Amino acid sequence: MRNLNSDIAIVGGGVIGASCAFALQQSGLSVHLLEREAPGSGASSGNAGHLASEQVLPLASSDMLLQLPRMIADPLGPLRIDWRYLPQITPWMLRLVANMLPAAYKRSTDALSALNSASLGAWSDLLGSIERTDLIKVEGSFLAYEKQQTQAALLALMDKLSPHQIPVTHINAKQLLERAPELSPNLLGALEFSATGHVTNPLKLVEVLIGSAQQRGMVYEQADIIGGQLTDEGVELHSSNGSLRCRHVLIANGAYAKPLVKALTGVKVPLDTERGYHLMLPHEEQALPFPVTSAERRFIMTPLEGGLRLAGTVEFAGLEKEADMRRAHMLEQHAQALFGRPLDCRDATPWMGRRPSLPDSLPVIDRTGPKGQVLLAFGHQHLGLTQAAITAQLILQLYRHETASIDLKPYQLARFGSSAPLHLPTESILSNQG
Ligand SMILES: Cc1cc2nc3c(=O)[nH]c(=O)nc-3n(C[C@H](O)[C@H](O)[C@H](O)COP(=O)(O)OP(=O)(O)OC[C@H]3O[C@@H](n4cnc5c(N)ncnc54)[C@H](O)[C@@H]3O)c2cc1C
Repeated sequence: MRNLNSDIAIVGGGVIGASCAFALQQSGLSVHLLEREAPGSGASSGNAGHLASEQVLPLASSDMLLQLPRMIADPLGPLRIDWRYLPQITPWMLRLVANMLPAAYKRSTDALSALNSASLGAWSDLLGSIERTDLIKVEGSFLAYEKQQTQAALLALMDKLSPHQIPVTHINAKQLLERAPELSPNLLGALEFSATGHVTNPLKLVEVLIGSAQQRGMVYEQADIIGGQLTDEGVELHSSNGSLRCRHVLIANGAYAKPLVKALTGVKVPLDTERGYHLMLPHEEQALPFPVTSAERRFIMTPLEGGLRLAGTVEFAGLEKEADMRRAHMLEQHAQALFGRPLDCRDATPWMGRRPSLPDSLPVIDRTGPKGQVLLAFGHQHLGLTQAAITAQLILQLYRHETASIDLKPYQLARFGSSAPLHLPTESILSNQG
């Protein structure tokens, strides 16, 4: 048994764990970050890089339900359920449907809006503190459309967003082409979200945060956390490097958080994964000045350092199943349809990542345990990059027992059951993953 001489151990070195590690270490606390692969090796390296503060509507929509038959039948559709995963995902889907009821839908929308409206400011404060605001660009993003009937849906979306003070304007085809001349003249127009941004390199962002925290004394350890239990003094973690004792732990291991949350809190969270894909076009770095999403094709194109990233799609197939890279490659033909010239797709690289998703579309941001020794930051679904810096601010406030800058009730673990701390041996934890 090894004692970690840090105030807090963090499990997971994705953008959530890295942002929290940075904020806690910078505040004067000592942090020990435990990551089983490499920093950013999960969803955080391959995301679309969009600081999507405008996305305040929950995942569940009647539109999604209408697509259910196609989701099962079409392996290359934008939304897909692997039929072999249907028994496992059905309870999650039923909860998703329950969250479409008006009161639940409003609760999730308001809670997403609260996080998103603070998200860009939090990133600017966090990166400003190390003079690295060059890692983000707040230059807006566009939701473009090709079909006339989509226009009405987008105008309705503007109405839905208006209570949330999200700057949005409709622009026509000519205005869109003036802003992004390489796009296809077949596009009919777009919604312009002027107060959104994108990062220039999602993986570098995580690496910079972890590197800066290390310079301030944070300990980084490559270790796979395979279980844990509460102790009288704090927490005991079982890892690939042996057992570790620490005073506090922050669970921030994204789509993999479920077993550790169960072990340390007794709560079985309905966490699942929405797998997403990207295709990176390294010879198209200059193709667009800002992120453009296709309303009909449901994917985004973001100009990043190192190329144009085509990203999106949702696949329900669990954590273990191998990636179906056809889903990444199909993005090439969708992107081609949105450009007015042939895209250079030489050396394109596919990627798949696992979004950590809860059926109410909200993350868990909380503190629990008889002595408050367990902190939680996971389940940020499609918005983990957007919400990482504000999540880090909230975790610091929770650690310090300060009044949180946002009402944290909607993000509490208790919405999934009461926290009954258990003293389980590792074996019981590993059999509790279902
Ligand atoms: C295709 C795609 C596009 C996306 N686009 C956007 C976007 O434009 N904007 C946006 O805001 N969000 C986007 N997202 C969502 C975003 O990427 C995720 O919400 C975010 O990366 C989640 O971060 P995380 O740190 O919680 O998880 P992860 O990045 O998955 O990190 C978890 C880390 O924990 C480690 N880990 C897991 N288990 C253990 C263990 N037992 N012990 C030790 N370490 C462990 C993993 O190795 C991993 O590094 C996108 C996601 C995908 C897939």
